[in-house]
Amino acid sequence: MKAPLSVEYRLPMSFLHRIVPGYRPFRYVGEKVACNLCGSREYAVLGTRDRWLNPLTNVICTKCGLIRVDPMPTDAELDRYYTDHYRLHYQSTMEPTPKTIERGKKGAEARLAYLSGLVKPGGRVLDIGAGGGEFLAEAKRLGYEVEGVEPSVGFARYAERAYGVKVHISPLNKIDFGDRKFDLIHSFHVFEHLRDPFASMKLVHSLLVPGGYFFVAVPNMAENRTPTGMFHFAHVHGFAYESLRMMAEKAGFEWVQSESLRAAQVFRRLETPNPDWFRFPNHAAELEKKFRESGLLKHLLTADPYRRAWRRLVRKLRERKLQKTA
Ligand SMILES: [Zn+2]
Repeated sequence: MKAPLSVEYRLPMSFLHRIVPGYRPFRYVGEKVACNLCGSREYAVLGTRDRWLNPLTNVICTKCGLIRVDPMPTDAELDRYYTDHYRLHYQSTMEPTPKTIERGKKGAEARLAYLSGLVKPGGRVLDIGAGGGEFLAEAKRLGYEVEGVEPSVGFARYAERAYGVKVHISPLNKIDFGDRKFDLIHSFHVFEHLRDPFASMKLVHSLLVPGGYFFVAVPNMAENRTPTGMFHFAHVHGFAYESLRMMAEKAGFEWVQSESLRAAQVFRRLETPNPDWFRFPNHAAELEKKFRESGLLKHLLTADPYRRAWRRLVRKLRERKLQKTA
């Protein structure tokens, strides 16, 4: 008896998924957009493949240095991507696993150790992109009044169930907060996913008390990695320290501090935006040059990829042990 034909096609695909987890081309049409930070339509192409070598074009705004996927996927296309593809890229996680919980917890503790020096416990905290709720749980434990925003139903329900915290399952701009204002708004690896991060920063500004703090972390595109290693369809915007800071200042914040890796920054709400937000006029040219010079071969000759692979292996082994004991 002959096996159904479809199996033959599915086998190599599932094999590819196994060795290259993101290998699955996503087709979309998208639309041409201006730079979300400075409004310029001038750009240079940085790459035409994503980290799994699927076709994907990323461009850099030659005026301010903000990176974006081009053409920009529409809201409907992003919805379709998240529904059909995103789970696969992230190992079919519908709810947090012991692994993601452990990772989230460690990071949350470290960030709160710093942030609690700026905003005293008792203050009101909003977490945008709350995930499985680890940050909210730790903040609650320290005595903050907390609530979160998380579009993934599975994660949001888990956070509510496991930690008894309020999580809105909705886009940020659809939530009615009444006259509630927050002392601290925290956002960990969310802004790179947004089509209009500037509008969201202005919204964050409007939800903070005067002098309130905004913690934002995104992948750092200026980090030393292979150029394509940085590109991912869901990351429709790419920031470096300079572009993230300029966007926040334009939205009405003043810069307070950055983490050593410069991927995480803390801002304070100002009452009037800084008209001199365009403070890094050379950033675009410098970052573009960096991408031009960082070829794959050159990258493989540095210690960086091997150190990264080793760290990942150690983490995987530790987490596997954790999963077994859980
Ligand atoms: Zn720009």
